Amino acid sequence: MIFSDKYNRYSQLAPIVLGLLLFSVIFCACNNAAKTEKEEKGPLKVVTTTGMIKDIVQVLGGDRLELESLMGPGVDPHLYKATQGDLVKLTKADLILYNGLHLEGKLVEIFEKLAKQGRAVYAVTADIDKSKLLASEDVENKDAYPSDPHIWFDVSLWMEAVEAVRKALIKHDPEGLETYNKNAGAYQARLGDLHKELKVMIGSIPEQQRVLVTSHDAFRYFGRAYGLEVRGLQGISTVSEFGLKDVADLVGFISKRRLRSVFVETSVSDKSLRAVVEGCKAKNHQVAIGGTLYSDAMGAEGTPEGTYIGMVQHNANTVVEGLTP
Ligand SMILES: [Zn+2]
Repeated sequence: MIFSDKYNRYSQLAPIVLGLLLFSVIFCACNNAAKTEKEEKGPLKVVTTTGMIKDIVQVLGGDRLELESLMGPGVDPHLYKATQGDLVKLTKADLILYNGLHLEGKLVEIFEKLAKQGRAVYAVTADIDKSKLLASEDVENKDAYPSDPHIWFDVSLWMEAVEAVRKALIKHDPEGLETYNKNAGAYQARLGDLHKELKVMIGSIPEQQRVLVTSHDAFRYFGRAYGLEVRGLQGISTVSEFGLKDVADLVGFISKRRLRSVFVETSVSDKSLRAVVEGCKAKNHQVAIGGTLYSDAMGAEGTPEGTYIGMVQHNANTVVEGLTP
């Protein structure tokens, strides 16, 4: 009797148990499907053009992302053409970040085409107020370069690029919101400090020597932000050639101002500046190569100069040492 009672009770419970089982099977299946989809999709694939932009994404996203930059150390973005491998990377990317303002002159068409296809392609300079941009002084290339693209050397402008990257990452990977916001907050604070430090450092150079002579005009934003006069042998792009007259003009200027140093750049040939140094010597003014600056590309990965902050600090140290008696 007891046995059959038990049996009766079990038979009453059976539909409930069955229901629960069915529910859990369906629930698990759905859950697995969602998981598989996410696992298949993997982390957000981000491709940047320059190392400087890659560095922002690295700082903000860290391990959440799959990250690659097209241009490595020492690469000149003005002249850079996409390789077949680059096109494959760009096709597979979930998010493409580039500098804009025609820095990557030979890639613009590709980016415009991808954007038209509805792909996530952003210029990190797009939201910067036009009034903060320097107009190009490059008469020859005025149409191609209405604005000077080298905004990363004014740290306060680069902070706006960091903000643009933060927004793009959150839009395309909303689950990482907390990580991106936390990392961006800490990084912006560091950049704010760096901006102040640079003003003090450059301000320590004797006023007469506060002139930065380089191969091409990559440092006009740096000069404006931190109080240096800037002269380049080539315009803001390395696409245009410099002429003998440019060399003679610069030699005259350096000799007249009795400048101690001129500076070569890692991504531009130093041939042109060596001609300037020789020219000064002929005019009885000894000017030294004050060191190498990182202009349009960062240093080797794993070195301090392989990060944006390290690169800017290296440049500032080199300039202060080269120009201070
Ligand atoms: Zn440049």
